[in-house]
Amino acid sequence: MTKVLVATEKPFAAPAVAGIKDIIEKAGFELVLLEKYTEKQQLLSAVADVDAIIIRSDKIDAEVLNAAKNLKIVVRAGAGYDNVDLQAATAHNVVVMNTPGQNANAVAELVLGLLVFTVRNFFNGKAGSELMGKKLGILAFGNVGRNVARIAKGFGMDVYAYDAFCPADVIEAAGVKAVASQEELFKVSDIVSLHIPATPETKQSINKSLVGSMKKGGILINTARKEVINEPELIELLAERTDLKYITDIMPDANDKFAEFEGRYFSTPKKMGAQTAEANTNAGLAAANQIVGFIKDGVTKFQVNK
Ligand code: NAD
Repeated sequence: MTKVLVATEKPFAAPAVAGIKDIIEKAGFELVLLEKYTEKQQLLSAVADVDAIIIRSDKIDAEVLNAAKNLKIVVRAGAGYDNVDLQAATAHNVVVMNTPGQNANAVAELVLGLLVFTVRNFFNGKAGSELMGKKLGILAFGNVGRNVARIAKGFGMDVYAYDAFCPADVIEAAGVKAVASQEELFKVSDIVSLHIPATPETKQSINKSLVGSMKKGGILINTARKEVINEPELIELLAERTDLKYITDIMPDANDKFAEFEGRYFSTPKKMGAQTAEANTNAGLAAANQIVGFIKDGVTKFQVNK
């Protein structure tokens, strides 16, 4: 019988697990649960005879793939899939998918929530400012970026975007001003919100010259990945430009150094963007449905290692 493993160091919420179980069992498959595991060995043992795996931020590397002799598909319930070794998966003939869009609204709502918190001086009792009329630059107009644009327009913000792969007319059709480069986006915006994936091209790409080109009082908000930030350069810049603020949902490696910029830096204690009951359930159910679609009908939509 086809075995589907849910391997989650940080488990799905109980209703999500129940929904996944229902989808898997209705398809005639067996569900195996490995939650809150603490040793890699537990994962290596659990994958030994399964056909499919659903993960969250769990790491799937060559060692795990070697141990999973029957494995055909891994689905990362979420958007970013930098926790899966794609090359090794392809070498093992394993299809890797993500579940794009399922947590996009959750992340976008957090962006606007963090921005209100920031422009109101972290609720310290002092008068702050408003988002209406401010220029918001969205770097990458994917699922999260589009949702940020939708909500920001509701706040009355003036929204700009740049995406290396999304055509300008698609951006403009959403009522957002498309700019020609990320350099231009940083120059024009009062606030820049990052929604690029962590790739070889984007890692460390948010550097001193880019952020340093922002207007006085600029705010950089990152709900993407810490790896896209050049941390030493951003620290140097924040020390020089005492008007700039950095807000992030992914605690930097150099958190202690950033924390010295009191009143100009905030990090959520743990990545919270996708941590809603709705996103959790949506992504888990989508992952289960994608596994059934792939094993029963060979559907490879959302495959990321083509
Ligand atoms: P997505 O795949 O829908 O969109 C990514 C967009 O980035 C695409 O439109 C793509 O064209 C664009 N892009 C890729 N490389 C680029 C580059 N070099 N320059 C400009 N644009 C580029 O992904 P998404 O769902 O919008 O999520 C975006 C990122 O946010 C994810 O990759 C993930 O790292 C992060 N994320 C974080 C959380 C969280 O909990 N904070 C949750 C979900 C996603």
